[in-house]
Amino acid sequence: MIQKAMFPGKYLQGAGALSELPHLVNQLGSKALLLASPSVLNSVLPKWGAGLSHPQILREQFRGECSREELNRITVLIQRNGIDLMIGMGGGKTIDTAKIVTDWAGIPVIVVPTIASTDAPCSGCAVCYSPEGVFEEVLYQKSNPGAVVVDLNIIASAPVRYLVSGMGDALATWFEARSCERTKSLNECGGHSTLSGIGIAKLCYQSLLEYGFSAKLANERELVTPALANIAEANILLSGIGFESCGIACAHAVHNGLTVLEETHSWFHGEKVAFGVLTGLHLSSASMQELEEVYGFCDKVGLPTTLADIGVDSSQRDRLMLVAEESCKPGSSMHKEAGDISPSLVLDAMLMADAMGTKRHGG
Ligand SMILES: [Zn+2]
Repeated sequence: MIQKAMFPGKYLQGAGALSELPHLVNQLGSKALLLASPSVLNSVLPKWGAGLSHPQILREQFRGECSREELNRITVLIQRNGIDLMIGMGGGKTIDTAKIVTDWAGIPVIVVPTIASTDAPCSGCAVCYSPEGVFEEVLYQKSNPGAVVVDLNIIASAPVRYLVSGMGDALATWFEARSCERTKSLNECGGHSTLSGIGIAKLCYQSLLEYGFSAKLANERELVTPALANIAEANILLSGIGFESCGIACAHAVHNGLTVLEETHSWFHGEKVAFGVLTGLHLSSASMQELEEVYGFCDKVGLPTTLADIGVDSSQRDRLMLVAEESCKPGSSMHKEAGDISPSLVLDAMLMADAMGTKRHGG
């Protein structure tokens, strides 16, 4: 049995952390390409990136999709300009594009997330889509990002829905880690969890309970507080190390299942994952005390607890069965849960998660 864990090379976080970039660029390379979305180039950088007009940092606009076409375009730019370091700045797709092309080119990447909506920035995997935005495949990199820089001024000024969604993604980390530990399943690096991985996943959950609500309030008022810092760290670093080093299970399988329903497409990754966490708790007969704690957390920060909260009509059993079947297909992380999991068990667990959420809301 081999235990494995994966970590980013460096993690920097704080108000004004962007000012560390020129120093990092000097440490990790000599000519950098900064790939950023139009909103980052037009509003975030002019506001917060004063020190980034470094002669060795070229800027390039991301064209919106992490597709083969875009990956090939950036690869050519790297070769033509003698680039030996990349900075991927923005949301998930910009970051994923930078991670993949630098892996192909064998050069380091610095990741600068401008929202704390998922745990992707620290991980060594990325999702590739068709130019039309349809999921194609998950690509694994040889190593995790060389550095991740989180500027809390930028995170605090982003819309609060991103931070809350990130908390939904982070909420899954401990419960999925526990499921994989119970069944001795492999984690996302193809090994068994280390003590550090499990400890980080547990800390992630504790941070959410302790600081989640306060961080949400701070974000609503664009304030940088210790609670906001702790939640940015939980969403980006702890959840990132936790999911990769401990594994995923029911919550992400339900998320993937939900994506077959068109009506869920406008809900964020972490919002659907949160409903998957609740489903997983019912599937694994969690105690009433634990259910109270997790539902209470979701209600407090505004994460979904019912199917209606993610745009799904709970009376349509046949459509929900499609979700359950998709979440149980061969190779799905659903099979990291204990016992013989079938689509009908998952369907009942989803309906039970919905029933409890509805009841709590007075339905
Ligand atoms: Zn996730």
